[in-house]
Amino acid sequence: MNTNQFTHLEINIPNIKYNLKYFRSFLSDNTKILVLVKAYGYGHGIGEFSRILEDNGIDYLAVAFPSEGVAIRQAGVKLPVIVFSAGMEHYPLLIHHRLEPSLPCLEAFQRFQTEAAKLGEHGYPVHIKLDTGMHRLGFEKAELDALTKELPLAQSVRIASVFSHFVASGDPLHDDFTKTQIARFQTLSSFLESHLNYKPIRHLLNSPGIERFAKEAQFDMVRLGIGLFGMSYVDRSLLRPTAYLKTPVLQVKTVRQGDTVGYARAGKVTVPEARIATLAIGYADGVNRHLSGGKACFSVNGHRAPTIGNICMDMCMIDVSGIDVKPGDMVTVFGDDPTIFELADILGTIPYEILTSVAFRVPRIYVS
Ligand SMILES: *Cc1c(COP(=O)(O)O)cnc(C)c1O
Repeated sequence: MNTNQFTHLEINIPNIKYNLKYFRSFLSDNTKILVLVKAYGYGHGIGEFSRILEDNGIDYLAVAFPSEGVAIRQAGVKLPVIVFSAGMEHYPLLIHHRLEPSLPCLEAFQRFQTEAAKLGEHGYPVHIKLDTGMHRLGFEKAELDALTKELPLAQSVRIASVFSHFVASGDPLHDDFTKTQIARFQTLSSFLESHLNYKPIRHLLNSPGIERFAKEAQFDMVRLGIGLFGMSYVDRSLLRPTAYLKTPVLQVKTVRQGDTVGYARAGKVTVPEARIATLAIGYADGVNRHLSGGKACFSVNGHRAPTIGNICMDMCMIDVSGIDVKPGDMVTVFGDDPTIFELADILGTIPYEILTSVAFRVPRIYVS
């Protein structure tokens, strides 16, 4: 019997725990773990998902936007939450929800410390981002000098952590550059620390960083993202998929040679009779329209079936000729087969984008 005969993203909690254990195996017992739940938890949901992470001993969460942090607070999660890309006008909102800003430059630091002082804060936790080579956000040496001069007067805030982000830690081709980033981080963070009378948490490693540089650079905390969701940069067979996009067959029909399936007559039937199954999922749900016309196969009842015709907004069609399929049967768009890696390869993108493309309207179902 199928349960959940509607379009949903199934989140497999045992597999999340399995992957977490793998990443923990690289770390010392006292190294903290931050999990990135930006972009709706890499598609896995935010409120309930953050609660699950809290229950599994995660120390910190991080998001991109304040609204994501607010969703975490609304779910009753008490963990510290870093917000990476808050605009300055959001600072009072962050403080209201006890969300902690990542501060990438002196202007941001001054503005936040002013807002915090106005609200009567003392020692509000903030996180200093260092630029060690990404050249996207972060303090470089000269600006860090200026920051240290302001610190004695900036009593409304406390530097809870100092961190930086790798450019290409998963790619052995760039290991020399990664090592340069580690060295710069070491130097800049020590410099900052030498101007404080307390020790901020230092963190540098992202998922591939944990797999490849945990010995020399785990510092006090690591930031786990895509790895938790099954992506290994060392050996993919070591990790398990955590998200399964599933949708029911709405109807099965026979279409004869010369007839076409779907919009624009794009899906031509070239065999005497094709069996076509219509699915309750479309590009508005996150099934990329470039998967139309047989570019991808989804799996149903143990078989792979190619798309036929153009993927529609809310539906798409697959060719199930020769497969025993009836309305209500569940089709896997991604999960074990195909994997997010296969779809990413077809689309010329990265698995992150497959996960983060699943639409808001697709309910997340947590399975333990
Ligand atoms: C997204 C992000 C990460 C996690 O990266 P993964 O490649 O998913 O492990 C870590 N740190 C920062 C600052 C990020 O924005």
